[in-house]
Amino acid sequence: MARAYNFSAGPSAIPESVLKEAAAEMLDYKGTGMSVMEMSHRSSAFQSIIDDAEATLRRLMGIPENYRVMFLQGGATLQFAGVPMNLMRTRHAGYIVSGNWSKKAAKEAEKYGTVDVLATSEPTGFDRTATLEGPVDQDLDYVYLCQNETVYGTMTRELPQTGNVPIVADVSSMFLSCPVPVERYGLIYAGVQKNAGPAGNVVLICRDDLLGDGPALGDVVPTYMGYRVQADKDSLLNTPNTWGIYMCGKIFHWVEDTGGLDAMERRNWDKVNLLYDYLDQSRLFSPIAKRDSRSIANVTFRCPSKELDKEFVAGAAEHNILNVGGHRVLGGMRASCYNAVPKEAVEALLAYMESFEAAHRADCRTDA
Ligand SMILES: *Cc1c(COP(=O)(O)O)cnc(C)c1O
Repeated sequence: MARAYNFSAGPSAIPESVLKEAAAEMLDYKGTGMSVMEMSHRSSAFQSIIDDAEATLRRLMGIPENYRVMFLQGGATLQFAGVPMNLMRTRHAGYIVSGNWSKKAAKEAEKYGTVDVLATSEPTGFDRTATLEGPVDQDLDYVYLCQNETVYGTMTRELPQTGNVPIVADVSSMFLSCPVPVERYGLIYAGVQKNAGPAGNVVLICRDDLLGDGPALGDVVPTYMGYRVQADKDSLLNTPNTWGIYMCGKIFHWVEDTGGLDAMERRNWDKVNLLYDYLDQSRLFSPIAKRDSRSIANVTFRCPSKELDKEFVAGAAEHNILNVGGHRVLGGMRASCYNAVPKEAVEALLAYMESFEAAHRADCRTDA
């Protein structure tokens, strides 16, 4: 059976070589006589797996020693609460709202303290990133942004200037897609199901001093949600998502073995630029995200009508091109071209777009 051209926004494509390795180790992981799924999280075999995953990630991202790496559960969504619970020491934080994920995070944070919306692109339908105007109040506990807004297909390339206020970033849909200057953030986190593993794990990287002696909101915070204790227990406070961490480790190695983050970034822009360049001259399709704000991963576009969008998505499936429908809040189309999506898949999508446009001349714009 042929593998699909899978443009799913998440859970999404995993490198075929990694899936094959996992399949080969399924019944007997390295002579242990059991699958990783069946093994104690306190075993030395699993300890080596999690240690190796962290070490590989540290090499890949150049994570400084004063940052702690945690493998947590509950998806990126749980960290919308985890961040304020742990870091809102004066119960006052700033949020940059550039799409539905940062909007949800800001709304969740309002349960715990005062949220200042420092910038927003909501008035233009989140078709671009949001940029800070002027200096940031230095009394804020942190400034939050979602660096790649998965639904709208926008990406913030320049981090905001926040002075001494730590930057907290949800990088779920650009995790390991390109290098990031870790030392410029206070905290980075990502749900791994976009680029780095199966759903259910979050990688959280936090500067040690921000952890303090415990969560900002004190003892009411569920023990599990306290970053200090999770860091001190090396993500083994309770039973972690052992299988997920094992798969993450394999994918981290795959990124490293295929050239690391610089090479990944080049390949990713090469892929999405095939689509962006086509969209810029197409007379049928319109790109949704503004040029300066375009994502390295999620390419959003639409046809002149909802009916054509529907026809496009249905026709794509007949070409083995799957999951190109847009998010339910936005409609249109979205092709998520994450790390494990091969260029060949993007070329197949491009060819299909060209043939679809040729077959719908009557619906095309006549202006340039
Ligand atoms: C997918 C996604 C989320 C939600 O992740 P869950 O693991 O489903 O909670 C949050 N933020 C961003 C940027 C995402 O892409």
